[in-house]
Amino acid sequence: VIDIQHLNKAYGSHEVLKDINFSVNKGEVVTIIGSSGSGKSTLLRCINLLEQPNGGQIIYNGENVLDDQHNLFEYRKNLGMVFQQFNLFDNHNVLNNCVVGQVKVLKRSKEEAEKVALGYLKVVGMDQYINAKPRQLSGGQKQRVAIARALSMQPDVLLFDEPTSALDPEMVGEVLKVMKELAESGLTMLIVTHEMEFAKEVSDRIVFMDKGVIAEEGTPEQIFNHPTHERTREFLKRTL
Ligand code: ATP
Ligand code: MG
Repeated sequence: VIDIQHLNKAYGSHEVLKDINFSVNKGEVVTIIGSSGSGKSTLLRCINLLEQPNGGQIIYNGENVLDDQHNLFEYRKNLGMVFQQFNLFDNHNVLNNCVVGQVKVLKRSKEEAEKVALGYLKVVGMDQYINAKPRQLSGGQKQRVAIARALSMQPDVLLFDEPTSALDPEMVGEVLKVMKELAESGLTMLIVTHEMEFAKEVSDRIVFMDKGVIAEEGTPEQIFNHPTHERTREFLKRTL
């Protein structure tokens, strides 16, 4: 679905991403792991163009989105994002959080958008809370609404940046459970997480980042049981 080629990103003279190459195929779950500061969030932010890459290509529908405005718009519409800090609209209730983007960007009618939203709120187990405001919800509930909101846009790919890192420990499980169900349903997902057990269980492929480069990539079996790179071994020893 997305093919990243020779992606570079620097902040001033600090090169944060150096010649990143990888792709996400339809129906695949790809998980990015790596130490703090290795560039995982920057990579996701470049992929969804919250940050402008300094070089390289993002190929979507066979064309580089960075030099084709029309394709760029289509691309943006087809990428969903779930953030660590939820980023819900605090002044909208749960249902509206899942409706406004559909109406504004996808030009769906309010009725249709509500129907779609309700369907996904059911998927994440939040359909009993449609009238609640975000401040009335727990962190785990907020994140499940954020996932339903992203799903309501029916994106080709859903990106997650540490979706459980801001949660109290007892709420991590409910969010991971929803994500696991989505993975099994065939949704294409690109996930940054420190939850190694989860990564091992749900991923088709693991990408290990180290100091702005992809040091190693492979199946969970390869990365967790037979890492070839010394930095991967060190990282896993520290985290597992
Ligand atoms: P973590 O696991 O802590 O979330 P990460 O792998 O997501 O880490 P990034 O947030 O991508 O790492 O940061 C990579 C590097 O880029 C870090 O050295 C960080 O200080 C730097 N960096 C990130 N954003 C900016 C910015 N807006 N301006 C300057 N430097 C930045
Ligand atoms: Mg990060």
